[in-house]
Amino acid sequence: MNRRELLRNAFAALPFIPAAAAQDYAKRTAGYPALTIKDVQVIKTSGGGNYRWVFLKIVTSEPGLYGIGSANNNYQTMAVVAALEDHLKPWLIGKDPDRIEDLWQSAQMRTYWRSGPVNNNVLAAMDMALWDIKGKRAGMPVYEMLGGKAHGAVAVYDHQGGRTKEECLDTLQKSLANGYRHVRIQFGEGGYGGGGFIRAGEGNRPEGGYQGQAFDEEQYVDTIPPVFEYLRAKAGFGPKLLHDVHSHMTGSNAVELARRLQPYQMYFVEDILPPEQIAWYRNIRQICSTPQAVGEVFSNPYEYLPLITERLIDFVRCRVAAIGGITQQKKIATLCETFGVRTAFQEGGENDPVNQMASYHVDISSSAFGIQEENHFPPVVHEMFPGIGEIRKGYLYGSGKPGMGLDLNMDVAAKYPLGPIRDGGAYKTDRLLDGTVSKP
Ligand code: MG
Repeated sequence: MNRRELLRNAFAALPFIPAAAAQDYAKRTAGYPALTIKDVQVIKTSGGGNYRWVFLKIVTSEPGLYGIGSANNNYQTMAVVAALEDHLKPWLIGKDPDRIEDLWQSAQMRTYWRSGPVNNNVLAAMDMALWDIKGKRAGMPVYEMLGGKAHGAVAVYDHQGGRTKEECLDTLQKSLANGYRHVRIQFGEGGYGGGGFIRAGEGNRPEGGYQGQAFDEEQYVDTIPPVFEYLRAKAGFGPKLLHDVHSHMTGSNAVELARRLQPYQMYFVEDILPPEQIAWYRNIRQICSTPQAVGEVFSNPYEYLPLITERLIDFVRCRVAAIGGITQQKKIATLCETFGVRTAFQEGGENDPVNQMASYHVDISSSAFGIQEENHFPPVVHEMFPGIGEIRKGYLYGSGKPGMGLDLNMDVAAKYPLGPIRDGGAYKTDRLLDGTVSKP
């Protein structure tokens, strides 16, 4: 054993919290006893539907004090479960849950390779649970510890759309009647990319080649702007209109689509380009002022740096469970504020109520807040999560309870185990007419 190893072993043999450290600890936690992480539980549930939700429960040495976090990943669910069970749990047990920043940094270095989506889910779940614990101990909602409310509630945008312009107008008016000021409108058949799809079996295809629904960029560029022209003609310029391109464009087609949408004064156009092609945002900026919301599939926050610091985009779109939790998202929001960019965190679809509230706490305490994506859940999910957020007239409200503000009822969750994960959980693959794989 060399000298360095001897020293390391000598320190390792010290009691967990030496007397001086215990005094310091008592001072900074207002006399509360030192905490340790006693147990880490991974909870999987279908939410009573087709969700593939994974939650982390961190149990502390103080009886009854625990935190919950979301490790939401619909497509690599079981990889996240293994990363939590086999890699995070043995490392986390015994540590001090009060040291959120230190645990976030050391948990990230722990995997050597960093900023991958699965490990960010792990970081996020741990981070949310730690903020939940700290808030419960302080008797405050998490947002109070992040600086308090910067606005009265969190504005959210609704999801609407239709197969015709008239249907789009009907659904827009329905949202407005429900109190939403911001409405995202999708068009046509085929899900994201609708308006740009050629139906299965139609069009000129290679012999023996791909026969499924095929995406056509130029068709999309021609189809979408007239939908918003129609909506503005009928509904005026009062409603805030949004549209999600879901990474379906390449280069100059993205620039052209943004240019053609300019007259309709969009609140934002979302992910007009895939993350591999962010340099094209410079070209979009040079030619038009259509606001750009970007980064639903980003997992490394450094991908945002040129976009934010060069003011090439208007909104960041990351998902809190994919970017590394409240700690990371708050830092991104602060960077946005510095450069006059706003936040529009992703929360729809397969997201869960814990994820929704994590974004809520960052949003309500941030001056860079722009909008949050809405998400609503069936009654069984409300039963599963006492204190779940509520949307009323286009605003999301938290329960105001300490910590994250919502709990996970383990008995209800246990009633709804994960269903079979077909095709390994794969996200759908879009293709062009000749069979080429299309983004996203
Ligand atoms: Mg999107």
